[in-house]
Amino acid sequence: MRKGKTFVISGPSGVGKGTVLKALLEQRKNVYVSVSATTRTARPGEEDGIHYHFLEKSVFQEWIAQDAFLEYAEYVGNFYGTPKKFVDSAMDEGQDVILEIDVQGALQVAEKRPETILIFIAPPSWEALEQRLTLRGTDRPEKIQERLQRAKVEFQSADAYHYVVINDTVENAARELDAILTAEHCRVMERMEMIGT
Ligand code: 5GP
Repeated sequence: MRKGKTFVISGPSGVGKGTVLKALLEQRKNVYVSVSATTRTARPGEEDGIHYHFLEKSVFQEWIAQDAFLEYAEYVGNFYGTPKKFVDSAMDEGQDVILEIDVQGALQVAEKRPETILIFIAPPSWEALEQRLTLRGTDRPEKIQERLQRAKVEFQSADAYHYVVINDTVENAARELDAILTAEHCRVMERMEMIGT
């Protein structure tokens, strides 16, 4: 059976990671997108267990104590973490796993599991990102500025990543992402193991 690989996708809030991932899932099978746990409140339309596991801070701390997270980080005042068990069971089933997490989390996963492929999704420009955050209408102007500042700082860490996908259009970004997943399964070692030497 083909082995599953773990891919981390990071990028600023508002860059459209969710939309790009949705488009990827429509064109690619065998992909499991990890559902993170968070202490932030649900946005309209978000469902518990589907978009996030929405947890009280005390429960999040219990999960930390039980070593239930592959990684976790604080982001703009809230905690976010990747539950380990779902990631591992999906990989065991041969699925590629996508973790949509921030840069701090990505670096933790890369250290624990160096075979992880890190992909950064960037906006075509900072103006475009500010416009998308404003149009989304879920954050107050101060929070938008905070998220923009955070995005610029995060982009400086992009050199720790293996790939950068620019989300100019959803179709282009999803196509590039799909190509990266395919290419990673064409690596010499994997093909040698598959064919036999
Ligand atoms: P949002 O509040 O917009 O849903 O997410 C804010 C940030 O938290 C995004 O950059 C998102 O990628 C990141 N994030 C979501 N889940 C996780 C997680 O499990 N771990 C880490 N480290 N970051 C996460």
